[in-house]
Amino acid sequence: MRFGNLAGRFVLRTDEGAVDVAAATNGLLPADPAEAYVRWDDVTAWAAALDPATLGPVVTKDFGLEALGPPSPRPRQVFALALNYADHAGESGLAAPAGPSVFTKFPTSVAGPFGTVALPSATVDWEVELVVVIGRPARHVAAADAWAHVAGVTVGQDLSDRVVQFADATPQFSLAKSFPGFSPLGPWLVTPDELGDPDDLELGCAVNGETVQAARTTEMVFRVPAIVAHLSRVLPLLPGDLVFTGTPAGVGALRTPPRFLAPGDVLTSWVTGVGEMRHVCTAPHETTSRDAHGGG
Ligand code: ZN
Repeated sequence: MRFGNLAGRFVLRTDEGAVDVAAATNGLLPADPAEAYVRWDDVTAWAAALDPATLGPVVTKDFGLEALGPPSPRPRQVFALALNYADHAGESGLAAPAGPSVFTKFPTSVAGPFGTVALPSATVDWEVELVVVIGRPARHVAAADAWAHVAGVTVGQDLSDRVVQFADATPQFSLAKSFPGFSPLGPWLVTPDELGDPDDLELGCAVNGETVQAARTTEMVFRVPAIVAHLSRVLPLLPGDLVFTGTPAGVGALRTPPRFLAPGDVLTSWVTGVGEMRHVCTAPHETTSRDAHGGG
């Protein structure tokens, strides 16, 4: 199943178009995408039993991509992993960590899958990542049970201002990666059962059509089940929470010479079988608050 956020409303993506979940269920299920994850078992049971012939006016066939917001627009917690691909740790000159190396991205950085990203400086870098969205609450979950607590996966960028990140002796990961628009997500949330092997997905990103990152999630040091188990031993994972699972090699800051995003650059980010996002970089004054929140 594929779900999304169309102009702020929770939708099921079918071959016919986008089905408004609240309208199709006469308000039995929520219109707000953030609320849908709280009712995840009900949402998936409804979608599994759905007869498309009974729909009709609740299906939107044509919509502009920029109407898509982040599939989980108001996560209560946003986790991210550093150095979770061995080749990225290698290009960073660091050994892969012995356990998951976790930091946070603040929720106001979440944005939609299409639109603009305002660059606050000349040192903003790309990091394509597989993003996990939590469905069922998870606390002390075994790795073998972890996928059952995941609503689905989506494409993400962990955009990073490298000067802010390394401005102090203590790296400022959380602030450097939390400017408005620095956590774009989408275009769809895809449930794990759609994906064949959800632990083996191809991901990548391109700047102005030139591929700069390309990898498979099998290259992760800690895969999704281990990450969910690890986090849930410390705290409860809540419906709608996000986990950015780390980026592979190919970031701009570690190139020779370093390369960063510039106004006018087009950043495309994909996970095969999940979808592709597209963002145009702008100077700070060119953006608006609506852009920064991705319409979501
Ligand atoms: Zn990252």
